[in-house]
Amino acid sequence: MAEEKLKVEKKEKVHIFEAWCKRCGICAAFCPTNALGIDQEGLPYLAYPEKCTLCKLCELRCPDFAITVREREKKEKG
Ligand code: SF4
Ligand code: SF4
Repeated sequence: MAEEKLKVEKKEKVHIFEAWCKRCGICAAFCPTNALGIDQEGLPYLAYPEKCTLCKLCELRCPDFAITVREREKKEKG
């Protein structure tokens, strides 16, 4: 478990502000790819970074603005 969390922090695709998070689980419930998990303390974390599409639904759904998703890599436009 702790190892997974460390991996997530390194990747930082999704960042959870623990102080603001009320552990309601909405973000994980709405994640369309089930990329988010809930740890033993009820805190969400990116359990499967490879599944995260950076869709930002978790960020939009969080009532406490406790989760932010990194911007997509800038795409080159033609
Ligand atoms: S950005 Fe989308 S895919 Fe990634 S964790 Fe949030 S809801 Fe899930
Ligand atoms: S929706 Fe927001 S407050 Fe609820 S568990 Fe997710 S990050 Fe925490």
